[in-house]
Order: sequence, then C-alpha cells, then structure tokens
Amino acid sequence: MIQVKAKKQFGQNFLKDMSVLTKIIQAIPNNSNHIVEIGPGLGDLTEKLVKYKEVTAYEVDRDLYAILCDKFQKEREQEQLKIVLGDVLEAWEKSSLFSERKYDLIANLPYYIATNIILKAFDDKNCEHIIVMVQKEVADKFVAKVKDKEFSSLGILTTIMSVESKILVTVPPESFDPAPKVDSAVIYIKKDMTASVEDGFKKFLKLSFTQPRKKLLKNLSAGYNKDFVKSVLEELEIKENARPHEIDAPLYNRIYKRIQNNGRNKE
Ligand code: SAM
Repeated sequence: MIQVKAKKQFGQNFLKDMSVLTKIIQAIPNNSNHIVEIGPGLGDLTEKLVKYKEVTAYEVDRDLYAILCDKFQKEREQEQLKIVLGDVLEAWEKSSLFSERKYDLIANLPYYIATNIILKAFDDKNCEHIIVMVQKEVADKFVAKVKDKEFSSLGILTTIMSVESKILVTVPPESFDPAPKVDSAVIYIKKDMTASVEDGFKKFLKLSFTQPRKKLLKNLSAGYNKDFVKSVLEELEIKENARPHEIDAPLYNRIYKRIQNNGRNKE
C-alpha cells in the first residue's frame, strides 16, 4: 500500500472500509451516464468505478495526482479515466455546466466544501444522480423532511430538486484513515431533471432560516415589512408562531410568490 501523509487542509480522510465501497458501487445507476468523481485521493473508489463506467476525476493535491496518474496509466490510455488536476469549485466557476455530457456524481467528498459541491450539482443541468459521502450532520440536513428538527433550506432545495433522496449507509470514523472527528454518511439523490430554483428563492430561504429556532415571522420581518409578512402568513393559514422547519417546500414557494408579487422589501 502507498504510504502518504494525509493533508488536513484538503480534507483528506481515506476510506478503508471495503463494505462501504461495495455499497457505493451497488448504488451506481443503471444508465449510460459517465461518472464524475471529486477527490479520488489514493484511488480506491476510482479503481472500482472505472470497472463499470467512464470516469472523470478531479484532484486538487499535486502529490496525489502524480500517484493516481501512475496507478491508472492503463485506464487513462484506454480513455476509461480522465484525471484533472485542480480545484473542482474553480473548474465549476469557469462553466456552470461542469461536463458536456450527462453524468452521475459519485465521490467521498472533501467535507470542508461538501455542501457547496452538492448545491452546485443541483444547479448543474447535466448532473443526474448524486451519491456522495459527507458528514452525517450534513447528510441529515439534505434528506430531512418537514417538521424534522434538521429540516432547513437544504432539505427544501432537495425536496424541490429531487425525485428521491435517502441515506444509503452511515459510516463511523474508524472506517477512514485518518479517522475524522465525526460520523459520516453516504447520501443518494436522484434529481428531478425538470426542476430548477431561482436565485431569489434561495435568498428568501436563507432569510427564512436566519435563526432556525425563532419564528418564521421574525426572520422574514428582517427583510420585509412585518405587518405585510403577517398578512401573507394569515392569508396562507400559517400560524403566526410557526417555526421555519414546520413549513414544507410548496408552502415556502407560495409565501415567496406572494411576497414577490407584492414587492414589499424593507427600505
Ligand atoms: N476518494 C478518496 C477516498 O475515498 O479515500 C479520498 C477522499 S478525501 C475525503 C477527499 C479528497 O478530495 C482528497 O483526495 C482531497 O485531496 C480532495 N480535494 C480536496 N479539496 C478539493 C478540491 N477543491 N477539488 C478537488 N479535490 C479536492
């Protein structure tokens, strides 16, 4: 086995548990999409993925990139694998369409940018499935349903942007080397390829959850006239003391539409 010192700044925790790798592989969708892997690391997951599909892998760490190029010389020559050296978020910044073809994102993500990556994948019209390892706490937020205490803007966006979302497996710290401080989980999201969310709605959600345990009315009143917000909630038969996690995605959409149509931003 290749010995490398994990770099904390790149969120390097290498997955060692073969049973988890197998669960990820079993979840590969049966379609003609290619696979995008973010952070192949030492290539343990990559090695399995290339057996099934064409893979493009993004790795920011030069040392790992060199190891990967060496390890996968044959697969690269056969164009089964393309390894790109660089920061995946920078690559995404350059083009909102990360890949020219339909793809499924399958990865053990660097946790410090995991949420950001999933949100980008939501917006990317060519990404169809997201099967990724993240911190358990983040996984819970993405798959949370209305009234769960973890239900937040991430759960609402997932509800709107997907036809299916679930946790595939929870993974303890010992499954990695080095062990992270927290539990992890693999989430599976099948996107609704017809759905999209406008930026204004995302901002509105951010405002709604500014203080997640306070009343929705209080949070929204920081951006809009309080009496106006009260009247909107009343019209939609939402209790004045409702908390942000008690409102489901369609209802958030209706509140947003009403507020937008009446354009009562706070001066
Ligand atoms: N896939 C490997 C595994 O399962 O063992 C490694 C996963 S490790 C949690 C995260 C990987 O993402 C590391 O290889 C790290 O260098 C890479 N990485 C971190 N930040 C990145 C970025 N901005 N763009 C691309 N890769 C990144």
